[in-house]
Amino acid sequence: MSANWRPKSVRVRLALWYAGSLGVLLLLYAAGVFTFLERNLFRELERRLHDDFEVAEEMLEVRPDGEVRWRVQGHAEEHGEEEGWVEVWNLDGKPLYRSKSFARARVDPSLLPLPQGSTGYSSLALPDGSRVRVLTDRYPLGDVSVVIRVGRSEERLRHELWELLGLLALGFVIAVGAAGVSGYVLARRALAPVGRMAEQAVKVTADRLGERLPVANPDDELGQLASVFNQTFARLEKSFEQLRRFTADASHELRTPLTAIRSVGEVGLREPRDERSYRDIIGSMLEEVDRLARLVEQLLMLSRADAGHVKLSREPVDLAELAREVAEHLAVLAEEKKQVIQVGDDGVVMTEVDRLVLRQALINLYDNAIKYSPERSAISVSVRAKDLSAILEVKDSGIGIPRESQKHVFERFYRVDKGRSRGLGGTGLGLSIARWAVEVHGGLIEFESEVGKGSTFRIVLPLAEKGSGAEATSS
Ligand code: ADP
Repeated sequence: MSANWRPKSVRVRLALWYAGSLGVLLLLYAAGVFTFLERNLFRELERRLHDDFEVAEEMLEVRPDGEVRWRVQGHAEEHGEEEGWVEVWNLDGKPLYRSKSFARARVDPSLLPLPQGSTGYSSLALPDGSRVRVLTDRYPLGDVSVVIRVGRSEERLRHELWELLGLLALGFVIAVGAAGVSGYVLARRALAPVGRMAEQAVKVTADRLGERLPVANPDDELGQLASVFNQTFARLEKSFEQLRRFTADASHELRTPLTAIRSVGEVGLREPRDERSYRDIIGSMLEEVDRLARLVEQLLMLSRADAGHVKLSREPVDLAELAREVAEHLAVLAEEKKQVIQVGDDGVVMTEVDRLVLRQALINLYDNAIKYSPERSAISVSVRAKDLSAILEVKDSGIGIPRESQKHVFERFYRVDKGRSRGLGGTGLGLSIARWAVEVHGGLIEFESEVGKGSTFRIVLPLAEKGSGAEATSS
């Protein structure tokens, strides 16, 4: 229910808040001003009543026959003005004197008896609804003790207060109304960029990620918001582009072995052959299937890595031992090219890694060293601990990587020489996977390479906590 009447527009809400809070402040202020003035006006009235009382003390006299009267005739009128009067009572509540102005005030004396014992200031309600402020006190007049009551109408004072109240109310309505309108206009102006941003944001779709939000003033809050959105769009655009390229490259890579399998099969079926030929044909088809399987495996791994689904099961791993194990694993491959993989280390180098993931990185580096080095060349692997890092280097004396290609080799599907790499069974994903495998462990991978001389790939990983101890004990 409450959500229904709540204004949906931020502009209206801001304007209402603005006007509302100003209204509350104004009310407090007006209440303060009003009570202050009311108090002052009443004080002023009472001060005058006090003066009246003193004049009455001076001017009243008791004649020998007991009659109380004003000393100088006509003074009462002068003194009493139109709203003041003087009454004198004896202590039994019997009126002894009333000024003429009392009669002029058209007050029925019987309605205003002197309440017994009440002295000081008080307000009396007259039958016509008006009010009179009175000061009542005892006074010894000659030998007689009397009660004098002076009074002044509160009407003018009340009238003034009503006028003030009206003025305050009018000011309140005007101020709150103006605050509401100006708040609305201001909010509309301030929020106008949001509308423009929303309009523009609608245009940003998967096909049009190049669109950007307008940034009116980059230094204000809305400008900063638009800039942040634009940066996000830029990142989105970049990753969409990467995804598009990855999908296109992956389809292309998958098609190549499939085409090969198909054409080898078609050629094989074209004419009758002997068993040996069929074996050869099936053998080369299986090679392509292997390539396909490897490619699919690598693609799966990368997509799982991208999605962040790979959960590392870290354990203490001796990098030197892992380096030797991978060397043994790839020894057959190296032997085919009459290469030797030498692993040199200075003892245990402990890291805390997911063994299988890091192993894949090493396999890819060794594999590249074997693939891109000539026959009978040496491949050397060294493992050492330095400061708080575990360092593994794979050094080959192969073809090297040209300078202009160096910054691209970690990109997916990038190959310096497409024909040669594919011929060697490369997919262009090996180094991307190696880099991911190292970085996911908080490490880094780098290389130096010179065409015709060879390349050195280096993996730097954090040592395991107790790894520094292991370094100390190494011989
Ligand atoms: P591939 O599967 O093609 O080897 P990689 O991602 O492992 O893909 O490597 C990318 C490219 O980097 C390779 O195609 C190759 O041209 C170059 N490269 C990688 N390692 C070496 C190396 N040790 N020596 C020379 N070139 C290399």
